Formats: sequence, C-alpha cells, structure tokens
Amino acid sequence: QNIDNTGWQLAHSYAELPTIFYSDIALSPVSSPDLVVLNESLAEDLGLDVNELRKDEGIAVLAGNRTPEGGSPLAQAYAGHQFGHFTMLGDGRAMLIGEQLTPKGHRVDIQLKGSGRTPYSRGGDGRAALGPMLREYLISEAMYALGVPTNRSLSVVKTGETVMRETPLTGAVLTRVASSHLRVGTFEYAAKWGDKQDLQALADYAIARHFPQGQETDHPYHFLLQQVIEQQALLVAKWQSLGFIHGVMNTDNVTISGETIDYGPCAFMNTYDPDTVFSSIDVQGRYAYGNQPYITGWNLARLAEALLPLLADDEDKAVEMAQDAISGFSDSYMSYWLENMRAKLGLFNEEEEDEALIKDLLSLMKTYEMDYTNTFIALIFGECRQLVLPDKPDFKHWYSRWQERLKKQDASDEEVRDLMKKSNPAVIPRNHHVEAALEAAEQQDFSVMNQLLDVLLKPYDHERDQDTYASPPEPSNTPYRTFCG
Ligand code: AMP
Ligand code: MG
Ligand code: MG
Repeated sequence: QNIDNTGWQLAHSYAELPTIFYSDIALSPVSSPDLVVLNESLAEDLGLDVNELRKDEGIAVLAGNRTPEGGSPLAQAYAGHQFGHFTMLGDGRAMLIGEQLTPKGHRVDIQLKGSGRTPYSRGGDGRAALGPMLREYLISEAMYALGVPTNRSLSVVKTGETVMRETPLTGAVLTRVASSHLRVGTFEYAAKWGDKQDLQALADYAIARHFPQGQETDHPYHFLLQQVIEQQALLVAKWQSLGFIHGVMNTDNVTISGETIDYGPCAFMNTYDPDTVFSSIDVQGRYAYGNQPYITGWNLARLAEALLPLLADDEDKAVEMAQDAISGFSDSYMSYWLENMRAKLGLFNEEEEDEALIKDLLSLMKTYEMDYTNTFIALIFGECRQLVLPDKPDFKHWYSRWQERLKKQDASDEEVRDLMKKSNPAVIPRNHHVEAALEAAEQQDFSVMNQLLDVLLKPYDHERDQDTYASPPEPSNTPYRTFCG
C-alpha cells in the first residue's frame, strides 16, 4: 500500500559510524507544506520523478513530514571553531534523511534544513525562514553554474508556519544535496570527544567516500589530509577569482569534500576591495575577502591537529607529517589562483611576469574603485560595447603591458576572447538583485526570483542582454549587510 514511485534509493553509510557521530531523530511535521521551488534537472540527476515530487506525498518528504521508503532521519554531531573559538555544534536545525544512490552511481546526502529541533539545537527553534532558504537555493545553484564545487539545492517548501526572528517570518525547509556533510568540525569533534577508534572510523569513512585511492597508499591519513588541503586550495582559489565572499568560514562550515557549504551571510563583491566584509556579525573582518585564503590555511591546520593521532604513533613524527602537508597549502593555492586569473586575462601559457601583471591590475581596481566582475567584462568587450576603463596613465600603462604579454603566446585574438568569455561571468548574483527577489517572494511573488535564477544559471552567456543583472548597485552611504539565516 505504501508504494512510493518517486525513486528514492536511500542508503545509510553514515549511520554505520560509531553512535557518537549522530542522533537518530523523529520527524517534526509542519502544518501545511507548499512547494515554492523545485530543481527539476537536479531531481532528474538524482533519479527522482518530478511529477511524484510535486504531489502531496512527494512534498511531504521535502517538508520533513514524511520519511520516504528507506529513509532514516538523523542529526549529525560536529564541533567547530567559530570566529576562532572552539565549541560543540551539530545539526541544530537539519536532518539527514539518507544518502541517495543516483542512477549514475553517485552517493549524495539528502539533507533537510529547517526541519525542526534536534539534540544539538541548544536554544534554537530548529526552523528556518523563507528568505534565507531561497537565498541559499539561488546562490548555491548560481555557484554550481559558475563551476564552483558546491552543495546543490533541490527544493524549498513553505511550512505554513511562522518563525520568530526579530519579526515574524514565513517558515521554510530547504532540501540540500551534498557529496557529504563531513566537515573539518566533524574531525575536531572526534578528536575532542571520541577515542582513537572513533577518529579512525571517521577518517576511514572519509577516505572511502571521497578519496578511495588513499586506501592503497602507505599513509592513508596523511593522504586524506593532503587531499583535503588540495580540494580546499582549489575551492578558495575559485572563490577569489569570482569575488565570492563566504562570510562565515568557521571550521564547521569547511567540508572534507571541498564543496562550498553553508550559504548564510555570503555575498559577491562589487567594487574590488580586499577588505570587503558583508556579514553583520563579522565585526573584525576575520572573514573578509582578502583573508579567505589565509583563513582556509588556518582551518586546515585545525584538521591537521585533529588527525595527529592517526598520522604516526610517534608524536614528533606525526607533527612533522602534519606540517609537511600544511606547508603545501600556499603553493597549491597560489598555483590554482594563478591558473584562474591567467584564464580571466586570456593567458594560455605561463610567464614569470604574470603574477605581477595580475596583482597590479587588482591594485588599480582598488585605486579606481572598479567593479571586480565588470572590469573583466570591459577587458573583453571594451571597444565594441562602449565599456569604460579608467582614462588614467597608470591604467593605460597596465593595459599596454597586458597587450604585450598577450603577444608572448601563440593564440589568436579570437582564442583569447573565447578563453576570457568562459573564464569571466557576465552575471553574478548581485546582492541588490538577490534581495529584490527575496522581498518579492516574501510577498508571494516568485516571478522575480525565477527570472533571476534563469539568468544566473547561464552565467557565461555573454550574448544575451544582461544589463539589468550585470549592473552594480547604486552607490549608497549604508553598506550592504548580510545576516545569518
Ligand atoms: P551556522 O551558522 O548555520 O553554521 O550554524 C551554527 C550552528 O547553529 C549549527 O550547529 C546550527 O545547526 C545551529 N543553528 C542555527 N540556527 C539554528 C536554529 N534556528 N535552531 C537550532 N539550531 C540552529
Ligand atoms: Mg546506527
Ligand atoms: Mg554551519
């Protein structure tokens, strides 16, 4: 009788970890679920039937009112350094219903966010508001389209209930899809409150799930550390190249998979300035744009510390191995960053002068308060689209250096332009457009969001008219601020 044709194929490898890593939880049903947005192409990739998902029974799953066949809800335990301070955390308003085994043979976490209280909720209500959940949906899908490793968003469902923040807000549940939710903070939790077997079980699980090649190496845990360092270096280099500011790079928000997670106060930079901070709670600018690579290194050092007991029996040896791995981060980051930035300037080959060329452009952008994204667009289309670059001697000098540099490679103008077009987005999720979409959605008008989403899903399409969405906000005396949902 309980036949579910949606296509859920849920497995539970995480629940085979020692029980300190999670709590089984009961559902906390909501009064009247209403589907607001469904990611049909992602649903199809997951092997889920879109029509079934749109039925009441399907929506009930996405609202956390019903467990699909094979589902078994749990909340994950983890710890983390929040703004530098170590603390116990855990899924306080999220639950993992299982790992979907996709038609292509991938295993991905299906997690509901805003699904109610758990043993890790502390004083919180376990709920989420519509605005922040739509924000996560929009920005995570935009990031995916931009080619950044990230978790995905499957749906947002309104709960029919009100959540109390500073004002009463519409309640919602987001379903997110991630290659896992293992975090640096999960390892910190194991190191602090587990025994060595627990830590080892977690590390073995992470290796099996994300870096199975490591099982064949002489030092699998050192390999794990190196791989996470590599993936995080790649990730933060992508963020920097796009002007993405995560906003809350606490160690509980840093994944082992190298995917971006936790789209709370994140935002994209408009005018280039390394000191840019959007998050209202980041008073000291710890997570400012220019600090992100450094903070990633710091977060990875916390992972290395947590892994020490597994790296070698001899403590000095373990520390040496950890340091060896951590010291590789800057070089990895630098080479990914240069790779991204060269492509943005249409450079195919490598020259000694490139780093200075790129850094000098950035410093001119800061001096002349130039929009980060649109500067690259102007470099691509300058003459033909009447886009203005600073009419200043130092900028003109930089421009001719760039032109000279382009001659040192064997590529046609057209090849250069094509590389630049696919390396520089025409549109990013600008804060003022995102806010306008969320405000309309709060008033039941989802058309603004759907139009924005449509544009954000094709960020490298330079041919369609992007003017509305590509323009930076009007100058304002009040700086834009983001808040944790
Ligand atoms: P975040 O800032 O989203 O990374 O969350 C930090 C911690 O606070 C995590 O353990 C969350 O699960 C928890 N948390 C955030 N909001 C709530 C809420 N409304 N109810 C319970 N826990 C929450
Ligand atoms: Mg179990
Ligand atoms: Mg978090």
